[in-house]
Amino acid sequence: MNKKYVVFKDDDAGVATPRLKKWIDIVLKNDGKAAIGLIGKYMKNQELIEYLNSLDKDKIEIFCHGYYHNHFPYLYKKLTKSKETPKTEFNKNFEKHDSSLKQYREDESKYLASSTVSFGPQGNIWNQDVIDALVQNDFKMMFSWEKIKGDIFTIPLSFNYKQNSLEDFIEEYKDHKDDEIVTLQFHHAKLTEEQFDFLSDVIDFLKNKEKRVFVTPSELLKLVSK
Ligand SMILES: [Zn+2]
Repeated sequence: MNKKYVVFKDDDAGVATPRLKKWIDIVLKNDGKAAIGLIGKYMKNQELIEYLNSLDKDKIEIFCHGYYHNHFPYLYKKLTKSKETPKTEFNKNFEKHDSSLKQYREDESKYLASSTVSFGPQGNIWNQDVIDALVQNDFKMMFSWEKIKGDIFTIPLSFNYKQNSLEDFIEEYKDHKDDEIVTLQFHHAKLTEEQFDFLSDVIDFLKNKEKRVFVTPSELLKLVSK
């Protein structure tokens, strides 16, 4: 790899679909690319699946964001004022993780036009047993804040898209300027109107000022496998 890359990661496809569509429209209109984290249980939503299957997978690629996603870990922590990491779908044991991923693969083969290579757990909470379950279920990459040990390539998360202007964004980006891969994490359901508004400027900045190339997880996998 001798260029610099950027990955847009958006979580929670299945919830707030009009906002998901709005977000994807902005990315595509500005010639960007993105990885969309689909919650497996929503594959039974025919309208959502028809929409996702209609997208060009070389530009908008789906990744597995678990199957059940029963609660939102950070909200749970806030509400219960607990300091412990809550039990989520992917900090249990191998059997449970394997069963979620198998359910995802089963539904994927029924409903989705293409199969996914990458994974991102809810709240980015996971343990080492997840890595074995991912290998077992033919996943190749995972989004993570920390480097993963094992046969799964780490797509390094850089920072959350939660700034309120392009200037704030550039300030946050400074710390990652020299990183070969910059991955921005989005939650379309939580974005404010302002944050939607300057997204085009952010894409323009990354592509034209910073000369970063937008890649999907599959493209990244090809680059790192060379
Ligand atoms: Zn999520």
